[in-house]
Amino acid sequence: MNSPPSAPVLRFAPSPNGLLHLGHAYSALYTWAAADRLGGVALLRIEDIDTERCKPEFVDAIFRDLHWLGLDWPEPVMQQSDRFGIYAEAASRLRDNGLLYPCFCSRSEIAAAATGTDPDGAPLYPGTCRHMSNAERIERLERGDPVQFRLDSEAAILRAGMLTYTVVGPTVTDRPQVRYARPERWGDVVLQRKDMPTSYHLSVVVDDADQGITHVTRGRDMEAATDIHVLLQMLLGLPSPIYHFHRLLLDDQGHKLSKSRGSKSLADLRADGWTPEEVRRAAGI
Ligand code: GLU
Repeated sequence: MNSPPSAPVLRFAPSPNGLLHLGHAYSALYTWAAADRLGGVALLRIEDIDTERCKPEFVDAIFRDLHWLGLDWPEPVMQQSDRFGIYAEAASRLRDNGLLYPCFCSRSEIAAAATGTDPDGAPLYPGTCRHMSNAERIERLERGDPVQFRLDSEAAILRAGMLTYTVVGPTVTDRPQVRYARPERWGDVVLQRKDMPTSYHLSVVVDDADQGITHVTRGRDMEAATDIHVLLQMLLGLPSPIYHFHRLLLDDQGHKLSKSRGSKSLADLRADGWTPEEVRRAAGI
C-alpha cells in the first residue's frame, strides 16, 4: 500500500547571535506565506551551535519578534545546542567510512597555503593534513593539539557520484527544475570545528532530515551551500528536500541587510512605532 504524500514542512532557522532585522522578517514572513500556499506548516529552528556568539536573550527576542509579526509554530522548537551528540554521531559515521580527517592547521597557515577561494570567498583549503601519516595523526590527537575535522572531498565526491537537487522558482509553487551540485568548488570543508563537534553544514542537513523538512526556503546568498548539503545528504543516507531561494532585501548601497552594516533591528523599528503591517509592507509581503 502506498503511504499518502506527506504535507509540506518548511522551516525558518535563525541564529540567535543578534537581534532580527528586516531581512530576517522578510525570510520568516516569506516562509510562512510559502507554507500557506503549499498547504503545509512552517517550523522554527534555533541554530545556536556557536555557543560563544549565541545568547539566550536573543532566543527570547526571536520568539518575541516573530510573535509580534503574527507568526506561530508548533512546539517544541528544535534548538541545535541540545543536539551536539546527534551531530557527533553523524560525523563519526563519516569518519568510520574514511571520509573525515583531522586537520591541525591554524587559520594563518590556511590563509598562506590557500589555492583560491570558495563560493563564500573564504580561503580554499589545499588539503595539507589530508596527506598526514596515521602515526602523526594519532600522536597529535593524543597530545591534545587543537583539531578540526574536514571532509575528504575527493573521496566523498567519488563515493557520491554525480549529484543533482531540485529547485522551485520563481515562486514556491512553480515547476521543479533539476540543478547539478558542484561540491568540488568548496574543497575539504570543516564538518567539526575546533570548538564544537559539528559545523553549520553538518547540523543543517541532519536537522532538516530529523524535522522532515520537505522544502527549504532561504536567501539566494545561500544557494551555493546546497552543493555541500546534497553531498552530505547522499553520504549520510538522508532525503534531499526541494530548495527555493528567495530574493534578498538590500540597503541603499545595494548591500544585504545586516547588523554589522547598521541595519535596524525589528526591536528598534517597534520602538520607533512601526506596526507589523508596516514591516510586512516594507518587506514587500
Ligand atoms: N542559521 C542560518 C542563518 O541564520 C540559516 C540557516 C539555513 O537556512 O540553512 O543565516
